[in-house]
Amino acid sequence: MTVWNLGSINADHVYALPHIPGPGETLAARSLTTGLGGKGANMSVACARAGGNIRHIGAVGPEGGWMVERLRSYGVDTGAIVTLDSPSGHAIIAVDDAAENMIIVYPGTNRQVPITHIDTQLAGARAGDLFLTQNETNHQVEAARSARIRGLRVAYAAAPFEAGAVRAILPFADLLVLNEVEAEQLRKATGQGPGSLGVADVIVTLGPEGCLWLRNHEEARFPSVRVTAVDTTGAGDTFTGYLLAGLDAGQAMPAAIDLATRAAALKVTRHGAADAIPARYEAEAFQE
Ligand code: ADP
Repeated sequence: MTVWNLGSINADHVYALPHIPGPGETLAARSLTTGLGGKGANMSVACARAGGNIRHIGAVGPEGGWMVERLRSYGVDTGAIVTLDSPSGHAIIAVDDAAENMIIVYPGTNRQVPITHIDTQLAGARAGDLFLTQNETNHQVEAARSARIRGLRVAYAAAPFEAGAVRAILPFADLLVLNEVEAEQLRKATGQGPGSLGVADVIVTLGPEGCLWLRNHEEARFPSVRVTAVDTTGAGDTFTGYLLAGLDAGQAMPAAIDLATRAAALKVTRHGAADAIPARYEAEAFQE
């Protein structure tokens, strides 16, 4: 089967600085590292690295060809990524000597994916395929509705959290993945616990504490792998991409969670976003 991911693609420009500049201050960066990021791209890479059959639906600008190439090099099907005539999504990330950071995100073409393009793509999906999306693109709700009508199972990572967007998509979601902070935001926005929203399966990730799987008002807890974290960027994205690959391959939830947990733990031992996501053989071999 196939996972269809309507998701963001960002260039992450990471600048190392002695301190985070204040208003009006000009400061020379010591170094610049540019990598592939964006929650959507991270999840697609994780799914592909897990061995999943993943087709990314998204958009980049004329200068974004290298990001499409990078996705393809990791095994993502990039045939549904369009090139538009405006700047790609990117993030300007300043990191200082105390590992404090400051991030500016420019959504760019991520918020300009044409609905006609999404519809045309989903028309090629088969019942039983998985549809995945997050909150960094546009048309998520229409796309989730359309995917549901076509018989796809809809997975939704409620990040970055935005109450209106999350509420609108919940009626079409079969699987919801969110971290502890987002779970609390959702509780405030809906007055309900994440297990009482009518979504069949809910996963709440708890960082170093592992995750919870909520289904039919029952709750199962899965521990994380203990590691020394150096960079938690993309931990949740790695987890979700691996999870979807497992489910798409017909694995039961606990088995899919087990490998996703190991892949995410290994990711946090490495610096970077999409480029630091481990391959399946590394995740499988990874123990405490
Ligand atoms: P997000 O990255 O979306 O904030 P979390 O911080 O909950 O999400 O992390 C997602 C998953 O990544 C966790 O469920 C866990 O499996 C793994 N993970 C995150 N941080 C750590 C850590 N410090 N040690 C081990 N595993 C971690």
